[in-house]
Amino acid sequence: MRRTRASASSLLAVVTMTFGCASGDAPDPDAMRGRSEADSLTLRYFGAAGWEISSGALGTDEHVVVLVDPYLTRANYSGAPSADATDTRPVYTRADTLFSDTDVIDAQVDQADYILVQHAHPDHVMDVPYLAHRTGAVIIGHESTINVMRAYDVPDAQLITVRGGEDYDFGDVSVRVIPSLHSPLNDKRYYQSGVVAEGVRRPLRIDQLVEGGSLMFLVRIGGHEVLTMGSMNFIEREVEGLRPDIALVGAAPSHLEITDYTPRLMRALGFPPVVIPTHADNFRVPYGAPTAYRTEWVDAFAAEVRVASPSSRLIVPRHLEPIRMSVRSSTPR
Ligand SMILES: [Zn+2]
Repeated sequence: MRRTRASASSLLAVVTMTFGCASGDAPDPDAMRGRSEADSLTLRYFGAAGWEISSGALGTDEHVVVLVDPYLTRANYSGAPSADATDTRPVYTRADTLFSDTDVIDAQVDQADYILVQHAHPDHVMDVPYLAHRTGAVIIGHESTINVMRAYDVPDAQLITVRGGEDYDFGDVSVRVIPSLHSPLNDKRYYQSGVVAEGVRRPLRIDQLVEGGSLMFLVRIGGHEVLTMGSMNFIEREVEGLRPDIALVGAAPSHLEITDYTPRLMRALGFPPVVIPTHADNFRVPYGAPTAYRTEWVDAFAAEVRVASPSSRLIVPRHLEPIRMSVRSSTPR
């Protein structure tokens, strides 16, 4: 089912970068960014709710790459000056049309076999048309996401429309699609019932990217089960009994609007061995900017996890840095 492979030269670049990041077997958090023959899964955080989840030896047919809500452009489309004084990029409004920072994307993404999209807001879907064309990946999302892809002429053969509840086996990866809910923004007044209509055509404006419903995914890959979240909410009965060994948990402050968010989620998931906060950065400033992280949000969430699930190992992701998991145990190296 996989469509593309990175070129030999780009693979070499990645391998070189990987060795450059090697840091041995020390038990500190940086050690998980080291490299080992026993590594079976690598995660990389793109910011917002975006992740790369990969498994298998680089340069072989076994290497499989799943992207989730990959948004690397990190545009300031707020219409207001950047929160970061060092950010000299243009300011956009939601009336502007979609665009992707292809230099940033090309420097980071060599291969994608599957792209999972949790909802169709710009910080989740905006880079997916470009990535779909560039990688040939299969795109899995609800109808709004898929209609955005069609607007940008992504071939139907690459598109799989889901509504939540599906559990699809692709051979090297299987994906359970989980119905979910969007973050309760604006003091719980957030609500979007619209969809991106079938038949819309490029170019789309950023404000045409409506939620269209929210999903989560359980990704089974490389002997691991990774639960993904695109928002700060969930439907308890839909996640009850899942047993991911790695949970990517929405951690921005809107989760505080939800009753017992962290304890209920940890309990429903059986207290995952590894918990990684997601969607808790400032995705409107570039990588490397002084304000790119929201450390205070992550620290507060980490404190909740320590109480709700003391046996879980919490990993704080850094943009674009590999987090390597050893075989089966989900012990970060
Ligand atoms: Zn959203």
